[in-house]
Amino acid sequence: MPRPPLFQRATVTRIVQETADARTYVLAPHEGPFEYRAGQFCTFRVRLNGTELLRSYSMSSAPETDSELMTTVKRIPGGQVSNWLHESLTEGDEVELTRPAGVFCLRETDAPLLGFAGGSGITPILSLAKSALATTGRRVRLLCADRDRDSMIFDKVLTDLAKRFPARFSVLRHLDVEHGWVNTAAVREFVGADGDGDCYVCGPTPFMDIVEAALPGPGRIMIERFGGDAEAPAVEPGGELDGTVTIVLGRKRASVPRHAGETLLESARRAGLLPPFSCEAGNCATCIAQLTEGHATMRVNDALTEEEVAEGYVLTCQGVPDTPSATVVYE
Ligand SMILES: Cc1cc2nc3c(=O)[nH]c(=O)nc-3n(C[C@H](O)[C@H](O)[C@H](O)COP(=O)(O)OP(=O)(O)OC[C@H]3O[C@@H](n4cnc5c(N)ncnc54)[C@H](O)[C@@H]3O)c2cc1C
Repeated sequence: MPRPPLFQRATVTRIVQETADARTYVLAPHEGPFEYRAGQFCTFRVRLNGTELLRSYSMSSAPETDSELMTTVKRIPGGQVSNWLHESLTEGDEVELTRPAGVFCLRETDAPLLGFAGGSGITPILSLAKSALATTGRRVRLLCADRDRDSMIFDKVLTDLAKRFPARFSVLRHLDVEHGWVNTAAVREFVGADGDGDCYVCGPTPFMDIVEAALPGPGRIMIERFGGDAEAPAVEPGGELDGTVTIVLGRKRASVPRHAGETLLESARRAGLLPPFSCEAGNCATCIAQLTEGHATMRVNDALTEEEVAEGYVLTCQGVPDTPSATVVYE
């Protein structure tokens, strides 16, 4: 089946003020049905002062429990898009967004689900929790860390879920103003006898680092990185290799000699093209394209499913060709 176009329009039908700096945008995509999995995200395309900006936002809704599509955005001080969304987007406006992407999703298992959410990291974790409670018999426990009581996003939704599923769902609140940052002991105490659980971690990088290092195992660890302070791995492209990389972007087609260690996105830029990109860390799928010739290996892939990779889709910010000839087509 052909894939739908990368970007589509959606109308903002409702805006919910969750906390002083977090808002939920309820969206009605124009080209339904809009299929997604709990834990996935969409990338928004915004034009500000003549510049196109791309930012990803996770769904806080779950397809099995919410009839509406919702994304929740926390305002970042000085952040271009999050502030624009908060200040300028109103009910009835239209936005442009990609189809859903991401692999921060549930897998088939009976293992308990342990969610570790820092601040706005609760967004995809709420989606996963709602879906797991509605579609499985799994136990779901969340450790939610927030600066203070006023910054707790979805407090009421989580309290209501705990009332509906008292035997299977609970939330442990951690407030920095009362206990300082989450530490190893707090994480281990929370995990308790559920070391074999599937652990989903999302939040500011220091929070995720502490949780990841503290998790005792042997359960699986899934991490969703919102970016912001990720350091791109320093990989210096090397010299020229035999072969050619061809990039097709809209009506433009350009070829450059293959360089060792150069990503498809870097080749495209060297060819004078300006393809879409955003996080450049393998998280957001904005730079997705399809290989129609040759093969490429991604350094990091936190966004494409195995099926998409098998169909030739590649994150061009991470894909380095490993065949002499490679042709990649952007949508
Ligand atoms: C897969 C994915 C899912 C995401 N889901 C959500 C979501 O559900 N809700 C949500 O609010 N955000 C989410 N984000 C983050 C979002 O895409 C933007 O990065 C964020 O809104 C900041 O964009 P901006 O244009 O406002 O800031 P920018 O103008 O890009 O950045 C301004 C400053 O803030 C710093 N910064 C950028 N991003 C962050 C960040 N996340 N935390 C702290 N500092 C940052 C930058 O280093 C810079 O100094 C997600 C990101 C990814 C990759």
